[in-house]
Parts: sequence; structure tokens; C-alpha cells
Amino acid sequence: MANNQGEGPAIGIDLGTTYSCVGVWQHNRVEIIVNDQGNRTTPSYVAFTNEQRLVGDAAMNQVAKNPTNSVFDAKRLIGRSFNDPLVQSDIKLWPFKVIKSTGDKPMIVVKYKGKEKHFAAEEISSMVLQKMRDIAEAYLGKPVRNAVVTVPANFSDSQRNATKDAGCIAGLNILHIINEPTAAAIAYGLDKIEDSIGKRTVLIFDLGGGTADVSLLTMEKGNFEVKAVAGNTHLGGEDFDNRMVEHSVEVFKKRKKLDVSANSKALRRLKTNCEKAKRILSSVTETIIEIDCLDAGTDFSYKFTRAKFEDLNRDLFKKCIDIVDKCLSDAKMDKSCVDEVVITGGSSRIPKVQQLLQDFFDGKKLCKNIHPDEAIATGAAIQAEILTNGRNIIKLSDVTPLSLGIAVGSTRDMSVLIPRNTAIPIEMEKNYTTSHDNQTKILVSVYEGERARTCDNNLLGEFTLRGIPPARRGVAEVKVRFNVDSHGILNVSAKEITTGVMKNITITNDESRLSSEEIDRMVKVAEKFKADDDKHKKRVKARKALEDYAHKMKHTIKEKSIGDRLAPAQKKQIEDNIGQVIEWLEDLQLRNSDRYGDKLTRLQKICEPIQRIASPLGPPKNHKNGPP
Ligand code: AMP
Repeated sequence: MANNQGEGPAIGIDLGTTYSCVGVWQHNRVEIIVNDQGNRTTPSYVAFTNEQRLVGDAAMNQVAKNPTNSVFDAKRLIGRSFNDPLVQSDIKLWPFKVIKSTGDKPMIVVKYKGKEKHFAAEEISSMVLQKMRDIAEAYLGKPVRNAVVTVPANFSDSQRNATKDAGCIAGLNILHIINEPTAAAIAYGLDKIEDSIGKRTVLIFDLGGGTADVSLLTMEKGNFEVKAVAGNTHLGGEDFDNRMVEHSVEVFKKRKKLDVSANSKALRRLKTNCEKAKRILSSVTETIIEIDCLDAGTDFSYKFTRAKFEDLNRDLFKKCIDIVDKCLSDAKMDKSCVDEVVITGGSSRIPKVQQLLQDFFDGKKLCKNIHPDEAIATGAAIQAEILTNGRNIIKLSDVTPLSLGIAVGSTRDMSVLIPRNTAIPIEMEKNYTTSHDNQTKILVSVYEGERARTCDNNLLGEFTLRGIPPARRGVAEVKVRFNVDSHGILNVSAKEITTGVMKNITITNDESRLSSEEIDRMVKVAEKFKADDDKHKKRVKARKALEDYAHKMKHTIKEKSIGDRLAPAQKKQIEDNIGQVIEWLEDLQLRNSDRYGDKLTRLQKICEPIQRIASPLGPPKNHKNGPP
């Protein structure tokens, strides 16, 4: 993890599947920063057009007309391999193309300025992070380099590392990767630090756009101790939307005999409308989806009831509650021990989810005190403040989300060194031996996951320990040591006891991880994009200046008090020139900013007579020497 560089402000970013949020600690509290549209959350969307790259609201707003080049859900892809069954099932629903690259890495394919471009999920996420950084910089009026970024508690090592890489590509110094429910717990617990109530056990239930996370913590004054985390990195609002979309496709097929399952534009329009309907159904019991010309000039209209929505998602809602159960059993804690159940994440607003959760806790009232969309960024901003300014607001101890171990024996079973939900930092060691006679080397393959066979778990890295003295099988003794630091970074070492031969690695380089060369290349691409964006903004600004000026002059010359004071031929010549510029501007193709600038200078010169009449140089006010 990067070091705190101590320069400038540090921000907290909730990098969400569907929406992201940024906060900063200021004047003894967290300020959630509004974006250029005045919104407190920003869609995690990136779009590519023939002219420009768009990020956030601008990208989301044009998605219906440009579905194949509008990318979202990058968080569902990050740190995963192309052949992952979850990736394969998502690909079927995404309107944008995803292909397999080297090392089974998925790459997103889009068209930008007429050319095909390939992007890793890290690059798309880096564009969202860069946008959040821009939002913060615009608000703070100074450069921002340091950030704490949140990830789902159940994110694997590769997903965490890939998120860190995304931060690096965005030019951010990632101070810490913090678990989302832990961040929410910090936001919840901050104003309770002064409370004199003793230790209390709090369960954070965080259901967002793409992930469901549960975290069980104890809080006492400023000490936050995570006892267990559980989650599903592929369960959330997006899945509920997809169920609604699938149902709508079926209804349309049945009623109108039209199949839109391969029509990306129609699917995108359905998704946008279903998501809207889903939100509405959290406060009313029925709503109508109406879409004009969904396919082949045929409209779609359907009344969604809350009951139907709940029925379509029954199994998914149950899965959310199962996570709570798993978290409690991992912590070996009965649900009656939980003092407070805190809900957060946009999808926690769904009444059925709240009801199921409340029923699970035997009718216990849920705590809705923290803002479902902002709590995670708030917690991240607090953590950023602690790490940069050393303010001891809280003390936090987290856990490992997945078991860590090595492959052993010919069956390559998983031998766990650090079980999941172990408090970090932690160091554990185990002794192993050779499995063949005269074996002089051992391959140490490090995995994370809960399955008995390592082939079902996630390979983090491997190395070979050589120089073991030849002996009968089972004689040599190799000590393997796992060390996880407070950032969750794993170091592994293996030592042969008799000879002292030792080898160690820091687990940072699994197969799907970007190499430093790739990151450097992506940083350069990101810089190029930034330069392109700036160039585009400059063009738009220059075009607008010319447009504003031409229209202003067109109206000014029409004013009697001005037009009548010009000679008719001169007036006509000026009007013709203004007309030509306006006509030229009607061609919507964006041109080089210099061309707009040159045209503006020329037009200003031509319009000088109007300007002179419209604003004659009067005596300057308060002129000490009186009128000239
Ligand atoms: P988050 O990742 O926490 O920003 O949550 C985003 C998810 O929350 C998206 O899937 C939204 O559709 C969903 N969401 C936001 N508001 C509501 C609501 N009122 N009812 C149901 N889902 C919602």
C-alpha cells in the first residue's frame, strides 16, 4: 500500500458498482462533495463517442442512444478472470462487448473516435476514480493526490489489488483500501464515541448496486473491532433490475410476439425504466413502465406491482439474509447478542429486504440513522483524515475476508494457515515436509478461498524453495510463514529448517494482475484521455463563445437604436457576416478551438461599429481628473 505522502488534502471514495461518492474531512466533520451536476453521488459510468469520452452523469444520460460504447458495472469485472462463471453470466446482459485477453483477462471493447479500443476493468474504474478526484479538486480548489478507497468486504486479494491499480492509473496515492461495511460502521460510530454506553455489538448490512456485505463489529468508545465479515460480490440492485428486465422481455414476447433479448438498445431502455420502477416500488405498491417503440415500432406498457417485484427476486433476497446468518455463525455469535442492526447501501431501501432482516432478528427495529448512499464515503473520508493528519478519532481493527493457505500433497488440497475472519495484522506458521524420497525442491502455491481443493480456490502466487538436502520423504522440515499486515497485504516465506535455506514473496502478482509495465502504459493512456478531454472542453468553450457572441450581435444590430445608426450598406455587410458564422456553426461537428477563436476575432472586428454604438466610451466613474 502506498505511503501517506502528507501533502494536500486526502479524500474518501466509495467506488460503487452503479454509483460512486466522494467525501472530505473539513471543519471537524465530513463533507460529501457534490458533482458538476449538483448530485452527491456520481454514476460509475464511462462512455465513448465519436468525439469524446464521458464519465459520470454525462455518460449515463446518453446510454440509451449509445449502449454498446457505454460501460458500467466495471466493479463486477475487476480482478476476475474471463472464464469466471459470474463474468460469463454478466456478459450476456451487458450491451458492451467483453473479450478474453492474455492470462484469461477480460477486456472491454468499445469504439472511441471511430477506432476500436480495448480497456481492462481497472482502466474503466480508474476513469471513475479520476472523475471523483476531479469533483473533489473542483470543490477544494487544490490538487488532491491522497485517497482512501472502499471495496466490498468479501473482495478477494486480486480484486483488492486490481482496485489499487485502478487508483494508481488515476494518479492517486491510495492510503488504504478499506472494507465498505467497516467504513459504514465508522460513519455510524463516529457520533457515538462520546456515549458512555459500554461495549456494543453492531451488525452492518450493506446492500448496494452490485454487492451485498455484512460486517459484525464491536464498538467501545473509539475502538472498532471487526469480528467477522461475509458477503457476495455479485448480489445487489443490478441483479434485481436484471430480473425485472428478464420478466419484461418475456411479457413483451408473449404479448407482442417480439423478442428483444438480443436488441441491446431495447434492453438498455428496459433496464433504465426497470431501475426507476424498482426505486418507485420502495415507496408505492405499483407503478407502470411505458416505453415508446421498444422494438419494430411497438410500444411496451406494463404494470409492475411490488408483489411481482418481490416474487421475481425472492431467492435473491433470501441470499442476502443467508449472508447475515453466515456472518453470525462465523463469529460464533447468536443473533440475540446483536445490539444494533444498521442498514446502508441504496438497495437497503427495499421494503421486503428490510422486513426479512427485521424478521430474522425477531422483530428488532433496524437502525436507519446513516445515509444509505453516503455512509461509506463518509467512513472512508474519516479514515483518510486519520491516516493523513494522525487524528486519533477511532482505532480500527479489521479481519481477513477469505481463508489463506497453500496447496499440499498430490491432490493439492488446501492447507489453511490463516482462517477467514482472523483479525489483522497476523502472523501464522506451519511446518510441512517432502512427499517424495530425495526431493530437493518444494513448490509453494498460495491460495485464498474456502474450498477443500485448491483448484476451486483463487491462486495468489507461487514460488519454489530449492536446496533441500536429499533425504527420505517426510524427513525434511519446511516452515511456511504467512504474514498479513494491517492493509491486508500478504507476505509468505518458506524456510528449510536444517539448512536455513529461505525464500519469500509478497503476494502482489497473481496471473490476472497488471504488471508495472501495463500500469505505466495505462497511466499514459489515462493522461492522453485527460489531455483529450481538456482539448474537447476547450473546443466546446471556444465554440460556445463564438455562438454566444454571434447571437448577441444578431440581436443587438436589430435594435432600432443601434441598427438605425449604421449606414445601410455597412449594416447589411455586418448582418451577412453574422449570418454566415451562425450558419457555419449549425454544422454540429466540433472543430479545432483555434478555428473558433480566429472566427471570433474576425467577427469582433467586423462588429466593432455595433460595439462602439452599443457601449460608447463614457467618462470613467470616479475619474479623479474629471472628464477627458
Ligand atoms: P449503492 O451501490 O449503495 O449506491 O446502491 C445503488 C443501488 O441502490 C442501485 O441498484 C439502485 O437502483 C438502488 N437503489 C437506490 N435507491 C433505491 C430505492 N429507493 N429502492 C430500491 N433500490 C434503490
